[in-house]
Amino acid sequence: MVDRPLCLEGQRNLADVVANNIDAIIRVRNLEKAYRPKSSSPGESVEVRALDGVSLDIERGDFVAIMGPSGSGKSTLMQILGLLDRKSGGEYLLDGENIEALDDDAIAELRSRKIGFIFQFFNLLPRTTSTDNVALPMLYAGRPNPTERARKLLSMVGLSERLDHKPHQLSGGQQQRVAIARSLANEPAIIFADEPTGNISSEQANEILAQLQALNDEGVTIVVVTHEPEVAEKAKRMIVLKDGKLLSDTRLKPNHPPKKKLEHVREELRKFQWKRVQENLRMAFVALSLNKLRTALATLGIIIGIASVVAMVAIGVGAKDSLQKQLSSLGTNLLTIIPMNPKTSDMSLGRNLRRFTIEDMYDLNRLIKSTNTLSSIGGVVSGNGQVIYGDKNTTTRIVGATPSYESLQNYTPIAGRFFSEEESSSRRRVVLLGQTVVRNIFGEDKNPVGSVVRINLVEFTVIGVLSSKGANAFQDQDDMVIIPLETAMFRVLGRRYVDYLLVGVKAETMIDSATETLREHIRYRRKLGTQSGDDFDIRSMNEIRDTISKSTEIMSSLLASIAAISLLVGGIGIMNVMLVSVKERTKEIGLRKALGARRQDILLQFLIEATLICLLGGTLGIFIGYSLSLIASSVFHWSSILPIGSVVLAFVFSVLVGVVFGLWPAKQASDLSPIEALRYE
Ligand code: ADP
Ligand code: MG
Repeated sequence: MVDRPLCLEGQRNLADVVANNIDAIIRVRNLEKAYRPKSSSPGESVEVRALDGVSLDIERGDFVAIMGPSGSGKSTLMQILGLLDRKSGGEYLLDGENIEALDDDAIAELRSRKIGFIFQFFNLLPRTTSTDNVALPMLYAGRPNPTERARKLLSMVGLSERLDHKPHQLSGGQQQRVAIARSLANEPAIIFADEPTGNISSEQANEILAQLQALNDEGVTIVVVTHEPEVAEKAKRMIVLKDGKLLSDTRLKPNHPPKKKLEHVREELRKFQWKRVQENLRMAFVALSLNKLRTALATLGIIIGIASVVAMVAIGVGAKDSLQKQLSSLGTNLLTIIPMNPKTSDMSLGRNLRRFTIEDMYDLNRLIKSTNTLSSIGGVVSGNGQVIYGDKNTTTRIVGATPSYESLQNYTPIAGRFFSEEESSSRRRVVLLGQTVVRNIFGEDKNPVGSVVRINLVEFTVIGVLSSKGANAFQDQDDMVIIPLETAMFRVLGRRYVDYLLVGVKAETMIDSATETLREHIRYRRKLGTQSGDDFDIRSMNEIRDTISKSTEIMSSLLASIAAISLLVGGIGIMNVMLVSVKERTKEIGLRKALGARRQDILLQFLIEATLICLLGGTLGIFIGYSLSLIASSVFHWSSILPIGSVVLAFVFSVLVGVVFGLWPAKQASDLSPIEALRYE
């Protein structure tokens, strides 16, 4: 806007312009452009001076042909004038605005508002219809009804029959006409055309030229680079460049600048933002569907990541839950007494544990009768053994227990009955079978009660079948048999001691006092002096439950971190794919920027793409992960619980992965200068 004085050398020229009352749309002074090819070794890089001090004014409404030998800097000049490239030196006012002061986005906006481009190689977006190609600059500029206007422009250039054709279905001349329609999309004040007829037949070239002339007649300023004299003849002014300098400047026909400036209302722009988002979404979908295999592979990483998170969480939470259930099914009002070395400094290390005997058990039973906090006692031994029925056999856990075990541990039989006090003390050979054992040696449907099985070669009569306790991650609780304690100790396992004692407490609130009563009594019976510590331990179920839930928590956080790592790997995979995708579409990005896409459009397009991959992978991953956990739980008889919170978390996480890992490639893409990207091979 500020028409500040240009540099000294240009002062006279500028004065001329003002004196002659010329309405210059372009004013450049001493324009320079140096290319420094990267390939040569540092220090001695050969600088190419493509433009070497060009000063030039172009009148509004003029039709200028730029000619000159190949390599003389014509394209370079046009790209700088067209704001596709940055100059290395000199000054440039475009329609009164000094571009020096503008940042990339402001330049992009200026370009989209004032400038239309026609390229030698058409540069239409592949796999995109003519209409959408023409509509694109309008979308980026936020104009209303882009599609409608695109159709109008296409019929203006004689392509009303080719609205839905894609570039590869059009001839060179037709493609160039689409490009002309596109260049007119935002009603530019000036159109730059770099050898627009260089790649089409002369017949079509005449049509293109006629169209350019018609536009010029309407007041659009036209700058065309050409090396064909026939093209230059149509122009009003001819400029010849040589080695980056102005060689000659000839007026061929008079120019009558338009009365009123071509200026459209700026307020109507930038309104319909939703259209831009839609376009970005559409592009992301197109990009993903064009490369299905790559999309699938990228998605796979996220699928695996999310699926493992979900499966781990479901299994972890399920395992914890079923463990907790089993623990509470064991009864909360239960104390376990086990032999243990006193916490002394001597190195006994478990070699001389003072174990409990049957007599200890009977002694405690007498104590129980004299207190009102304790309800019952039982001793337990266990070991492995073989159970045989007919020609079937199975190795299982053999538990020797007292009849009180039934109520203490909730082992109510579903068929038959538990053994009695009398059967227990007279060492009868009766057995209750766990359901896994029944399945293994009797098959599914047979009622084993009354049959005779052999346990470690001793014959037992089956008197009952135990109810199912299910399985956890550590063991199948139905793979066991229960026989009377003394039968187990003296007839089957050959033990003189019990493994541990179980004591039932009347109410949960009495646990502490009951523990103390037991402790004092056992210390007294064992004649422990005040100096020596306990050589046994009394544990409540609550303590055991706490320990177990702590260790399952550690396990599930371990699983979760493994899952998180796989998600990270998946994210890196996405970044990789996005980087390749950006590289592959560098040219397209350049074109989009040249047509008015701002950095945020490019950023958004690639972010949407990455996010879509992650959303897709996330959704599939949740389904697969949950199915896996269901399969695992049915195979291993675990319960599997998927908290809704973790589904949401997995979803949010997958989107975050997309955004975070898509950001870098997207930024790379959006940082490219349009012409650099366009030149990219
Ligand atoms: P014209 O369009 O007149 O044929 P250009 O403007 O394309 O010429 O190029 C002018 C000079 O700048 C040439 O010598 C060319 O080799 C050089 N040049 C053009 N683009 C680049 C680039 N990206 N990097 C290095 N040198 C370049
Ligand atoms: Mg060129």
